[in-house]
Amino acid sequence: MSHALNGRRLKVRWRIALCLAVLLLAPEAGAFSPSAHRIIAHIAEGRLKPEVKRRIQNDFSIKSLADVAAWADTVRKRLAQGPWHYANVREGESAYLKDRDCPTGECVVEKIPHFKRVLEDPGQPPGKRREALMYLVHFVGDVHQPLHLGNLSDRGGNRISLTYRGRMTNLHALWDGGLIHRRGRSLLQYAQDLDGRVRPRDAAEWREKDVGEWANESRRLALSAAYGPLPAGSGRLDKRYIVTARQIIDQRLAQAGVRLAQMLNTALAD
Ligand SMILES: [Zn+2]
Repeated sequence: MSHALNGRRLKVRWRIALCLAVLLLAPEAGAFSPSAHRIIAHIAEGRLKPEVKRRIQNDFSIKSLADVAAWADTVRKRLAQGPWHYANVREGESAYLKDRDCPTGECVVEKIPHFKRVLEDPGQPPGKRREALMYLVHFVGDVHQPLHLGNLSDRGGNRISLTYRGRMTNLHALWDGGLIHRRGRSLLQYAQDLDGRVRPRDAAEWREKDVGEWANESRRLALSAAYGPLPAGSGRLDKRYIVTARQIIDQRLAQAGVRLAQMLNTALAD
């Protein structure tokens, strides 16, 4: 066998390896990004009652909520749980309706109360409660991403292609985290900055709403801020769209963090 042929084979192998690496590293469509989930978990963690934090560490061996925040995305494909992460709503409808949009209960709006019940029930096996906690840390984030209550017809914006910063992407991915502007800050720092801007009276108001209302907030934002102002035909977002979207994403991350903390403080209270 000639050296030239060997060299060519080696090159082909490298190319295959590179393609595989790109595929494995590509973020999966339809998931609030791992960074967004970590930010939410950091905000929640800072608001846990000390005894609840201790219980999460001692009873469930979870040192930090941020470490388990993206776990549900890592098993979604293998366990065929993709639909648990969102709820697609019929186009033109301004609110989520279980019978129409999630008749089997296999969507994020119904999975949250389900796993909350499992977590609060001391009769459940500890492994099940631990798993429920990890799902909740993740799903409370997902239900706050406006396009997780997007249109069924475009798969929550996944089918709307756009160019952003010179790269082809889609509307869903941008709202999942592509638009988050960290300006060099760590995720913890980003979370602390967001949390520091939350006014106590806003937090109190956020805590009064239930899961159905969180979902409908997302639905309204999907219509008014994600789909509504899309520039027609250009395939590119204008500056005003991006500035507004970033403000909304920041607010949704903060709301998710505050509400997750409240849910865990209640479910795991003495
Ligand atoms: Zn998800």
